[in-house]
Amino acid sequence: MTALAGRASRTKTVDSRRRLVVIGNGMAGARAVEEILARGGAVQYRITMFGDEPYGNYNRIMLSHVLSGEEDTGNIFLNSLAWYQENDITLHAGVRVDRIDRFAKLVFSDNGRATPYDVLVIATGSRSHRPPMDGMYTPGGRLLPGIFAFRTIDDTTGMVSYAQQDNNHRAVVIGGGLLGLEAARGLQSHDIDVEVVHSGGHLMNAQMGPDGGAVLRRSVEALGITVHTGSRTTAVLGADKVRGVRLRDRPDIECDMVVMAAGIRPNVDVAVTSGLPVERAIVVDDQMRVPDEDEIYAVGECVQHRGEVYGLVAPLWEQAAVLADHVTGANPKAAYLGSRTATKLKVAGVDVASMGLQAPERDTDEHVVFSEPSRGVFKSIVIRDSKIVGATLLGDSRKVAYLTQAFDRGLPLPDERVALLFDIGGPGEEAGVAELDGDAQVCNCNGVSKQALVDTVAGGCTTLGGVMEATRAGKGCGSCKLLVRQVVEWAADGAVEEEPAAAYYVPGVPLEKAALMAAIRERGLRSVSAVFAALAPGGAEDAKSKMGLASLLKMMWAGEYIDERDARFVNDRVHANIQRDGTFSVVPQMKGGVTSPEQLRRIADVADKYKIPMVKLTGGQRIDLLGVPKENLPKVWADLDMPSGYAYGKSFRTVKTCVGQEYCRFGTGDSTRLGIEIESRFQGIESPAKLKLAVSGCPRNCAESLVKDVGVVAVDGGRWEIYVGGAAGAHIRKGDLLATVDGPETVKLLAGRFMQYYRERANWLERTYAFVPRVGIEHLRAVIVDDAEGLAAQLDAAMQDSVDAYVDPWTERDDPFTPGQFRTSLPLEVLPQVPVR
Ligand SMILES: Cc1cc2nc3c(=O)[nH]c(=O)nc-3n(C[C@H](O)[C@H](O)[C@H](O)COP(=O)(O)OP(=O)(O)OC[C@H]3O[C@@H](n4cnc5c(N)ncnc54)[C@H](O)[C@@H]3O)c2cc1C
Ligand code: SF4
Repeated sequence: MTALAGRASRTKTVDSRRRLVVIGNGMAGARAVEEILARGGAVQYRITMFGDEPYGNYNRIMLSHVLSGEEDTGNIFLNSLAWYQENDITLHAGVRVDRIDRFAKLVFSDNGRATPYDVLVIATGSRSHRPPMDGMYTPGGRLLPGIFAFRTIDDTTGMVSYAQQDNNHRAVVIGGGLLGLEAARGLQSHDIDVEVVHSGGHLMNAQMGPDGGAVLRRSVEALGITVHTGSRTTAVLGADKVRGVRLRDRPDIECDMVVMAAGIRPNVDVAVTSGLPVERAIVVDDQMRVPDEDEIYAVGECVQHRGEVYGLVAPLWEQAAVLADHVTGANPKAAYLGSRTATKLKVAGVDVASMGLQAPERDTDEHVVFSEPSRGVFKSIVIRDSKIVGATLLGDSRKVAYLTQAFDRGLPLPDERVALLFDIGGPGEEAGVAELDGDAQVCNCNGVSKQALVDTVAGGCTTLGGVMEATRAGKGCGSCKLLVRQVVEWAADGAVEEEPAAAYYVPGVPLEKAALMAAIRERGLRSVSAVFAALAPGGAEDAKSKMGLASLLKMMWAGEYIDERDARFVNDRVHANIQRDGTFSVVPQMKGGVTSPEQLRRIADVADKYKIPMVKLTGGQRIDLLGVPKENLPKVWADLDMPSGYAYGKSFRTVKTCVGQEYCRFGTGDSTRLGIEIESRFQGIESPAKLKLAVSGCPRNCAESLVKDVGVVAVDGGRWEIYVGGAAGAHIRKGDLLATVDGPETVKLLAGRFMQYYRERANWLERTYAFVPRVGIEHLRAVIVDDAEGLAAQLDAAMQDSVDAYVDPWTERDDPFTPGQFRTSLPLEVLPQVPVR
């Protein structure tokens, strides 16, 4: 009896749920399970997942950010291992399924197990395509060291550690699509010189036509990435490791790494071996079911539906929902009818949106095109029968929400077609957001709909960051952040709370600038790594915060600052300005724009000796030697034997002057002399953004002083006006009058005090034209001129410390900071030579 009772009670605990097995623990497999759980699937199914990567599931899109160092691998997980436990899911991580026995309903995995299933989901995704080339494998059959795919966490971390090895400096990325460009951009942040070889005639040819591709190429090249289109690699060179690549029709390229980003191939081996129907990928019907297999479903990139194979996440979110509806019986009528791939992405920092046709196909198709290559902007819309059938947006995706809707829903279009591209009468952002359907996808990367955002706001979450955290919206490529913000603002009806993080000086340290400076001072933190260790959550370093912190620390500690090179941008590492073709421009110092025959002769000799392709006068009255390869920089500086003119970096740059009283008939002040004195005093000081100054000898303002960060103008009676917060670049603003003073000494004092106040109070990268109106000119006058807060002495002393700590960075030429600091970045793209007229 006892035994029976025991058996009876044991029988009671037997799990009567059906067995759901998922092969593939990537974005589609995990999403399908999430959707199943959301429909109460845990009650129906005992879930087992196999994934041949040894992790929980992660957002593959974020690998680009991991490669660039902006994100840690730990931060890209969608579901950690704990999630599987909490949801009673058995995860076999690092275990591969080799075969399915459809008749016995078993899956066989490479750890020797046979696991039974009632319902099977195949979500094996894709792998990187390796175009056939000689020399890819060692005689032992292993991939030659230095060759990488770009698909998994392991690929990415492998690439990062290889790129950081001292002897690896150059990479060739094969493929100029989304992945290739992301890989190229990511590698650059490890100081790797990158060339992209693309077989198509233009970049991203899957998403855009040749005109858009040409604009994208310009933007990519402006980042210092060399692009070879219409070319193929035929061999990898090197016996023990990658030494270069051979091209079909161009000279070999020397390199230390090769990244394969030449497309993907669906992982269909399991399906093929097990006798399931496979064409380009595993064939499924509208229920995501494999034909003739009642209990086998497939989802994601491994799937072919109505002839289409998708390589983006948006379709897999829709597929996963339909699959879950069927598997759980929540909606047996649910059908997946295919996805209209409207892609919104940020590729290598450039906004890209594309949908439908790239170009007109019929004579009656309308084509609206706007192209502004110098700003990296290209917009093209194809209209058929007054409906949008295709659009490409590059560099400016503000109209993407409206265009996507119009494309998806065939909305009527404004008669004035130009309103589709610009805000001149088309539906405004507000209207666009209000009109969006609840199920319209706002964040493609994480499959978040407008309704999900609205519900989160209705649930009481009213900060943008909070909503993004709760829904994951905007946490992929980031291209939808603007739209997420608009939806949140609309849903909260104006009651959006300020984001504490928005006020942080840098994202990686949760403190506003004043509090951050106080904490740094209090703890005596003199290096960027010390700040992270002491003040960042968990002591975690954050790549995006390094430059801002380095600038702040240098300003605060002057000569006591401990320099760490990885905290610098390439311009600051080599003290020159990187140009479009990957060469650098060298601008020697010429205080106040004044030079001498001797200096000119030396510049001319250097230009001859190093075959400088272009010698140009800059807008700041300096001479620019353009086209200097990185390895020549120290030699060029040595031969010039002049100090750096600071034409790079976030620092004080130049003082432009007019000839003033000395020579000009109108001059009332010695502007040249004062300009030279100002430049001598403040040369090279670090600041939140660049500082450009000018001094004019009379109100005619030939040095354009009213549109400078600090502009000085001589007026009657030997007096000088000081203007601050002017700009005449992408942003135009007339400076505000800070003070009218009696002599040059007071000009220098107040200009220095203003700059120090700006250095201490401005946000990272905030130019004075934004800072001055934000703080208010009255306040600035009170603090700087009237010393209303008793800060003057302190500001003057802090500036003096920085002035005293000045060292000409070009003296580093004799003693490079690292062996690779000035290594070659050749071969370079040849730019057109501009003739001297
Ligand atoms: C660097 C990068 C950037 C990207 N950026 C974007 C973007 O901006 N926007 C966008 O929409 N898409 C982007 N994508 C594409 C997107 O990541 C994919 O569309 C998505 O991951 C596909 O999901 P999936 O589950 O089908 O495949 P995967 O996420 O690849 O998951 C499949 C999983 O199954 C495993 N597996 C395969 N075979 C087996 C087996 N036999 N047994 C066990 N496990 C197996 C694989 O190892 C993998 O872990 C990007 C991809 C990469 C690599
Ligand atoms: S600003 Fe006045 S002083 Fe200077 S060059 Fe022009 S006219 Fe002459």
